Amino acid sequence: MSQRTLVLLKPDAVRRGLVGEILGRIEKKAGWTISALELRQLEREVLEQHYAEHVGKPFYEPLVEFMASGPAVALVVEGERVIEGVRALAGPTDPIAAAPGSIRGDFGTIVRENLIHASDSAESAEREIKIFFPGLA
Ligand code: GDP
Ligand code: MG
Repeated sequence: MSQRTLVLLKPDAVRRGLVGEILGRIEKKAGWTISALELRQLEREVLEQHYAEHVGKPFYEPLVEFMASGPAVALVVEGERVIEGVRALAGPTDPIAAAPGSIRGDFGTIVRENLIHASDSAESAEREIKIFFPGLA
């Protein structure tokens, strides 16, 4: 089942020089393809759309500020079961609870600064791809 997913390497990943490491893990999965990739400063407006489901939660405002605190890398990955697959590579939201071997488990300690976003369903993926890559069919 070929799918596509929207991935963000958060500003902490860029600041810490972990972009190559994280992209490498995604690239090495058999049959997956990176079909769009951009380093960009995320505008507040874009982040408000992206994180609309979290409006009103206590972590929302600091999350948006953090995500706008420096450049991030946005990408679209396509391939077999890639939505579930990138979530598995990332590990759970809390990096301390994330197993070693996962991206968050290997490199993170702070819940907010957990290095990577990955779409959680086919519906989220299509919605998020439109936000970050409106020109992509
Ligand atoms: P994800 O799908 O695993 O990225 O997690 P969520 O969609 O639940 O939350 C979005 C992002 O908000 C997470 O990746 C974290 O950066 C941040 N976040 C989520 N829950 C918390 C929390 O309880 N505290 C803090 N500080 N940040 C959180
Ligand atoms: Mg989420």
